[in-house]
Amino acid sequence: MSGAPAWPHVSFDLQGHRGARGLAPESTVASFDAAIAHGVTGIEFDVRLTGDGEVVVWHDPTLQADKCRFDEADLTGAQVDELTLAQLRTVDIGALTLPTFPEQVAAPGSRVLTLAELFERYAAAHPTLWWTVEIKVDPTDPREVATREELTHKVMDAIHDGGVARRSFVHSFDWAVLELARAQEPRLVRSALFVPGLSPEDARPWMGSLDPADFGGDIARAAAEGLDASVLSPYFTWCTPENVAHAHALGLGVLPWTVNEAADLEAVQAAGVDGLVTDYPDRVPS
Ligand code: MG
Repeated sequence: MSGAPAWPHVSFDLQGHRGARGLAPESTVASFDAAIAHGVTGIEFDVRLTGDGEVVVWHDPTLQADKCRFDEADLTGAQVDELTLAQLRTVDIGALTLPTFPEQVAAPGSRVLTLAELFERYAAAHPTLWWTVEIKVDPTDPREVATREELTHKVMDAIHDGGVARRSFVHSFDWAVLELARAQEPRLVRSALFVPGLSPEDARPWMGSLDPADFGGDIARAAAEGLDASVLSPYFTWCTPENVAHAHALGLGVLPWTVNEAADLEAVQAAGVDGLVTDYPDRVPS
């Protein structure tokens, strides 16, 4: 149908979430190592800009005291996009574990990685590993919108320079990011994240230039026909057999997040998804 590039996964794409967040503090080398040790075929992680224009591997817009140990200045609540990379590097992101992930093993001394460093560390050593690069932009936050284009273009460049352009997704809830990515690198695989069940008014800011009404309110159609996306990435409860079949009929792969419990892992696989993102890759036979 569309000009969407293919997602060349071999069979089933088991992706670790922020590395393997269930097993080690998120976005640390220890977390990425744990995911790889448990046989993932891909890794999903988040990127943002620092105040000095570096692309870093971190999920949250601010630094939080439950995830960060401040060895020098106390940066609790600081905006990542107002800190320099050097300031961010003073923070230990591996020393603390979260009660919500009781199996996490601390990795003291962990420092935030740049996207370039992540690819340098892993891309050549793991030549078949898939990279699902989530570009974090909140389209309802003017400060994040102001740097959307810079972030997206720098991520494209890093994917290109890292030699992983044929094994990466550009992945975002903010479909304006995916539209920018399509304009810059049309052959890079786009993955459209979404939260099921939003009202059209709540969904629309996240859909870039698209109007859900133009697609009959059908999010899968909008992703396929409006974005030339190759992959639809819903919260896992969306993944009924009917919805997955509908996405497949539109030419989309389906990659739900974040699936952690045994019954849910089984249900989404029975529904026919093409992969999944989990905090616990050890719970899925590889
Ligand atoms: Mg993510």
